[in-house]
Amino acid sequence: MLTIGCHLSISKGYAAIVREAHSIDANTFAFFTRNPRGGDMKPLDAGDMESCRNLIAEYGFGTLVAHAPYTLNPCAAKDGLREYAMRTMIEDLQRLEHIPGNCYNFHPGSHVSQGAEKGIELTADFLDHVLPHAGHTRVLIETMSGKGSEIGRTFREVADIMDAVKADKSMLGVCLDTCHIWDGGYDIVNQLDDVIDEFDRIIGLQHLYAIHLNDSMNPIGAHKDRHQKIGQGCIGFEALKRVVTHPKLCHLPFILETPNEIEGYRDEIAMFRR
Ligand code: FE
Ligand code: FE
Ligand code: ZN
Repeated sequence: MLTIGCHLSISKGYAAIVREAHSIDANTFAFFTRNPRGGDMKPLDAGDMESCRNLIAEYGFGTLVAHAPYTLNPCAAKDGLREYAMRTMIEDLQRLEHIPGNCYNFHPGSHVSQGAEKGIELTADFLDHVLPHAGHTRVLIETMSGKGSEIGRTFREVADIMDAVKADKSMLGVCLDTCHIWDGGYDIVNQLDDVIDEFDRIIGLQHLYAIHLNDSMNPIGAHKDRHQKIGQGCIGFEALKRVVTHPKLCHLPFILETPNEIEGYRDEIAMFRR
């Protein structure tokens, strides 16, 4: 059975988000553990998280994919910014221990003017500090579009980060975002098999744990990162359908991060389930 869902708001609590996902025929979902622009986390409501756990089991959900605040910069030049990012992610991982066995993805960040090599080194060092706190949550590096000075734009850069990590990597993995890799120059419309083979050769498919399923507003290689509704962008529904049904990918959780309200997500989930 296809594991598919969308990004939802945690504002009404953890049990509410599972019910909302279930109501649109999702069997996974993504969420920010706190305001995506950073800031403090809501106080722990252990009862709500227990209900969340129970509902996930009752509905038979697959792996959930939490998302780290996107303003964190794991390879910032300033020590203070990197330390803030570390503290935030460690706190998130501690919270996620209440719903163990899921994934938590993050953006490797922007090197600004330090150069990609330095950015990779700093992100690996960042992971050395964070991974010992992963507990039962898999920490996923998201593939990026390469806008500005983002690192993680190529499979090689993601692999280089992973190679440079000295900490135990058993809870480290990768989340592939279809909009980002398309914007980064990977032709998933005409050469999906080649792209998957390249991912396997450079990173290893055994490290791939989740897919962000998005169309893109921009043509291949644009390095823009503007998500579009499924079928209304430059990737298109047919190509994304091939991603979802690909024998090497179809077992993964697929997360929609398209510009939609709940009804739009319901429709997109239905399109893929059909
Ligand atoms: Fe992301
Ligand atoms: Fe994404
Ligand atoms: Zn994006």
